Amino acid sequence: APVIQEEEESVPMLSVQPKGKQKGCAGCNRKIKDRYLLKALDKYWHEDCLKCACCDCRLGEVGSTLYTKANLILCRRDYLRLFGTTGNCAACSKLIPAFEMVMRARDNVYHLDCFACQLCNQRFCVGDKFFLKNNMILCQMDYEEGQLNGSFESQVQ
Ligand SMILES: [Zn+2]
Ligand SMILES: [Zn+2]
Ligand SMILES: [Zn+2]
Ligand SMILES: [Zn+2]
Repeated sequence: APVIQEEEESVPMLSVQPKGKQKGCAGCNRKIKDRYLLKALDKYWHEDCLKCACCDCRLGEVGSTLYTKANLILCRRDYLRLFGTTGNCAACSKLIPAFEMVMRARDNVYHLDCFACQLCNQRFCVGDKFFLKNNMILCQMDYEEGQLNGSFESQVQ
């Protein structure tokens, strides 16, 4: 199924030479006297003042795009970490935000809370065996019972 992803809130950033009257920096409010200044979000910035709110990296050095959301200015890495998504949970089919821990089985991703046997709801601990049958997660007991009863098509696991 196609994954619907939110449009990234990316904003272009331009390095421009100041012309006309001196611009004030939107970061520190001082006048910009440098040879180059950054223009982004319809504002002007010192190259030193346009920084990621998370990691403090200078965005002008990282690339020509910044990301903004919820009044934060972010680099791409932090934007994706905070607001990106890992994909849809194969059990509940809701989107999983990128910062959440997930379980992976084959090509599927699951919320930690959703990663349980889909027949008896048993949760798995590290090291526990689980089985993926007909795209369902199963505990060993339910898997073996299903094999015995022939309720699964006999296909190679
Ligand atoms: Zn500044
Ligand atoms: Zn950052
Ligand atoms: Zn889920
Ligand atoms: Zn089970």
